[in-house]
Amino acid sequence: MTEMLLKYFREQQKQVETERIYNTQCPYCSMQCKMQLVEQTHVKRKTYKTIGRDNPTSQGRLCIKGMNAHQHPLHKDRIQYPLLKVNGEFVKISWREALDYIKEHVTEIQEKNGADALGVYGSASITNEEAYLLGKFARVALKTKYIDYNGRLCMSAAASAASKTFGMDRGFTNSLQEIPFTECIMLAGTNIAECQPTIMPYFEKAKENGAFIIAIDPRETGTTKIADLHLKLKPGSDAALANGILKVIIEENYLDERFLQERVNGFEEVMQYVVSLEFSVIEEITGVPLEKMYQAARMFGQRETGMIFTARGVEQQTDGSAAVRNFLNILLSVGKIGKPRCGYGAITGQGNGQGAREHGQKADQLPGYRSIENHEHRMYIADVWNIEEKDLPRKGVSAYEMIEKIHDGEIKGLFLVCSNPTVSNPNANFVKKAFEKLEFLVVADMFESETAKLANLILPASSYLEDEGTMTNVEGRVTLREASFPRRGEIKHDWEILCEIAKVLGKEEYFSFSSAEEIFNELRIASKGGIADYSGITYERLRAEKGILWPCRSLTDKGTERLFETRFAHSDGKAMMVPVSNQAIVPKAKITKKYPLYLTTGRVVSHYLTGVQTRKSASLSARNFESFMEIHPSTAKKYEISNQELVQIESSYGKIVVRSKFSEGIRPDTVFVPFHWADSQNVNNLVSEKLDPACKMPGFKVSAVNISPSVKRSSY
Ligand code: SF4
Repeated sequence: MTEMLLKYFREQQKQVETERIYNTQCPYCSMQCKMQLVEQTHVKRKTYKTIGRDNPTSQGRLCIKGMNAHQHPLHKDRIQYPLLKVNGEFVKISWREALDYIKEHVTEIQEKNGADALGVYGSASITNEEAYLLGKFARVALKTKYIDYNGRLCMSAAASAASKTFGMDRGFTNSLQEIPFTECIMLAGTNIAECQPTIMPYFEKAKENGAFIIAIDPRETGTTKIADLHLKLKPGSDAALANGILKVIIEENYLDERFLQERVNGFEEVMQYVVSLEFSVIEEITGVPLEKMYQAARMFGQRETGMIFTARGVEQQTDGSAAVRNFLNILLSVGKIGKPRCGYGAITGQGNGQGAREHGQKADQLPGYRSIENHEHRMYIADVWNIEEKDLPRKGVSAYEMIEKIHDGEIKGLFLVCSNPTVSNPNANFVKKAFEKLEFLVVADMFESETAKLANLILPASSYLEDEGTMTNVEGRVTLREASFPRRGEIKHDWEILCEIAKVLGKEEYFSFSSAEEIFNELRIASKGGIADYSGITYERLRAEKGILWPCRSLTDKGTERLFETRFAHSDGKAMMVPVSNQAIVPKAKITKKYPLYLTTGRVVSHYLTGVQTRKSASLSARNFESFMEIHPSTAKKYEISNQELVQIESSYGKIVVRSKFSEGIRPDTVFVPFHWADSQNVNNLVSEKLDPACKMPGFKVSAVNISPSVKRSSY
């Protein structure tokens, strides 16, 4: 009888009364995979699942993060009402009270200390419309020069390198469709197998078609497994390794002389510098045997077509921008760009890493990739915004430098949108102390992140399921993220929040938007004639064409699949090569007797950034519920560390405790720790505050550390 009853109830549960489908896009990495949330109403409950949807980039594929992405927006911990901190506790207040609170504090701080006493910290996970509006909000509503965003910690080195070398920065110079047909691929400092899993089939297809794949990484990863050649370099030596490869290319003359003569400036200087270098010195710096550098250079030089991809492994260094430039030197020297199956890709990390750096939330930038210090650019944007050019603030400072200004007391209040800077920045202990000094911190977020906990006021923000807008993916393809899932409680979109704050500050006339599409239409005008020109893109076209690669300059422009076919974007049409030193101007951490191991950091497939969203997903957390330290067994033996044991890692900046994980695939002089966890597991507590002078990227990828068992063993 009991069994019969159970069977009856199970059948009841299985019966689907209604089914609703919500079209959307994954909130996580730069692939921006299209997906659908399927909501089924059963007799007694609702169930949800996420499935892939066909599109030109990910072709219907999803990774484990995407498949479970719905778990965080549906989580019980979602913030649904404005929360004000009173006597150390957050209490629910109305939007009216929240807006009055903001008005009072903005007015008081700015009257007392000037407009620049307030800062704005944005995100590369928000839509293009919100990134655009945030830049406008800072400059027009608050009139502050201090705005920057978390993409500074992610994409700034590649963006700076591409801008200086090519004259423009679109992450990929080609669409992904060309990858399977190229003959040699260099993957420098990228673990796409874990970070952008749905891109992998493009590379696997290339391999099936006979491509030779070179991977550059201090560790063996899912990505290096598909490589024919793995250059397992010492952390931080990427620029020197590129010099070694270039030296072979020059020595064995794989140069494309005609291309260099007609389309490139600066090659002579690069050649002079590179030939003066000693291979033995490069071998010593990189730890890569000379014959492997020869093999890489020969394969890349001899094959007819080739592509180079870089990511955070190369870029998150104090010479990240220069190191990327040196990989671009390799590409230009052999003329493998601007033609079919040849090109460069910076594999963006964050969901809108590309679009969010184009439309004005960077300290030095105005929409359309315009410069805030260029008079013509200022005049154009002032006109679009209907303000006087003289009222447009000048350039501010980068994300980490803003935090230093908070610490010094120059910035007293901060608006923070969709970011968790006390965990994601280097020297995280210092960063937390700086945030604790703020007189006024307003955070728009979905959850009480580690940074939101420090806020005076938290505003409930919508998720990817609820917030419509455009995102620009890894290719530079602008896509429309549909979002129709109903919002709970009093949650608002980031753009609505900005408009409402602007209204109470008396700036309503500049922020009278009633939809994301209206903001996009202003962005189109603001970007017109700029490097990142979106003026020909409309929501209607995005729905019909499933995404458009910028620049797209008119309604009849199909967008630009392949860049630089006839000219680069510098005024003379040529690319610019520069010699890159083996050594960074800002020195990197060196291993010493006290700190005898390199520490490098990165991601795991089941988590995203500081884990605020993915740690709320039961399925993703179950795969990696805590951080770990990957270590070679021979190194572990030396330090008397067992597998799966708690280990203390210490640098001159701080200490953390994580569990050891043995791997034969990592260099014995290096340990690896992912960066998705906070507090005593936050690896950024160990990272130096030193920045790349060219782009202000912190040097996340190389620190010097010591390790020891966390619990001292007693002698039995
Ligand atoms: Fe696609 Fe990236 Fe989301 Fe995975 S995390 S489903 S690869 S967008």
